Amino acid sequence: MDDRLIRQAARMLQEARRIVVFTGAGISTESGIPDFRSPRPFPPRYNSDDLTYQKFISHERYRKIYWDYDRARYPAMRDALPNDAHRAVVEIERTGRMTALITQNIDGLHQKAGSNPALVYELHGTVHEVGCLHCHTRWSREAITDRMEREGIEVPYCEHCGGPLKVATIAFGQSLPTDVLEESFRHAQACDLFITIGSSLVVQPANLLPPQAKRSGARLILVNLSGTPYDNIMDVILLGPAGPTMKAIMEDFGRISAGGGD
Ligand code: NAD
Repeated sequence: MDDRLIRQAARMLQEARRIVVFTGAGISTESGIPDFRSPRPFPPRYNSDDLTYQKFISHERYRKIYWDYDRARYPAMRDALPNDAHRAVVEIERTGRMTALITQNIDGLHQKAGSNPALVYELHGTVHEVGCLHCHTRWSREAITDRMEREGIEVPYCEHCGGPLKVATIAFGQSLPTDVLEESFRHAQACDLFITIGSSLVVQPANLLPPQAKRSGARLILVNLSGTPYDNIMDVILLGPAGPTMKAIMEDFGRISAGGGD
């Protein structure tokens, strides 16, 4: 770990007034949830072509494949625990200067770590809720899972209107919620420090958030295991595991705040 870069990131945190944190699957790999770039992404044996939103709404057969897939991936997310990087984000929030926590993750680990749900923008939805595609009623995931197990249901339908139920994540081919997306871009535009943690920055439109922040004059920090297509606009790049890196930044931030200076 490069102490000089850690110190630089900590100082940027100290100087910032409106901080946006933006996270991807890489912040949760240390919690045991693989990202999409791992040698063994999860869950195996499913073909993404069978999991598109268009197929889900077209036929019961694909709804069954979707629910099988989701049942395979859900336990790992339900049982995962937040790691040091999620906790560091909670610490950033406690400075009172974090305006938004934008995440591409669907695992809910930020909220589990203690992040204020009102500040969390889940671009790709959440695995912890289920919604009716017709009347838009929402249920907790546990309630639907219990019902499916109790009644031996493979594909659940809405108790109110009979519409198909789908986990409240954004499926392949499904557009992102406009309000969440617009708010996220608004926050990126208004911040003066934008911190990306654990994202390959290849998935659109979320990867357009850092350049948006940059254009508006914000400083940019990247914490990631590998480089991204946007490395050229970053002010500080910390290549390393998110947990230890974020922990080191927050420890340094604590020292500076306590008057430890350089
Ligand atoms: P990604 O899989 O494209 O990229 C993850 C990045 O994190 C990679 O660049 C990798 O080098 C880096 N990384 C992995 N482990 C790391 C660690 N310990 N510390 C620091 N960096 C680490 O993920 P993305 O950019 O979020 O976008 C892809 C899509 O993956 C999103 O649509 C998201 O919804 C979905 N997804 C989410 C989860 C989750 O909720 N945890 C898991 C898998 C995929």
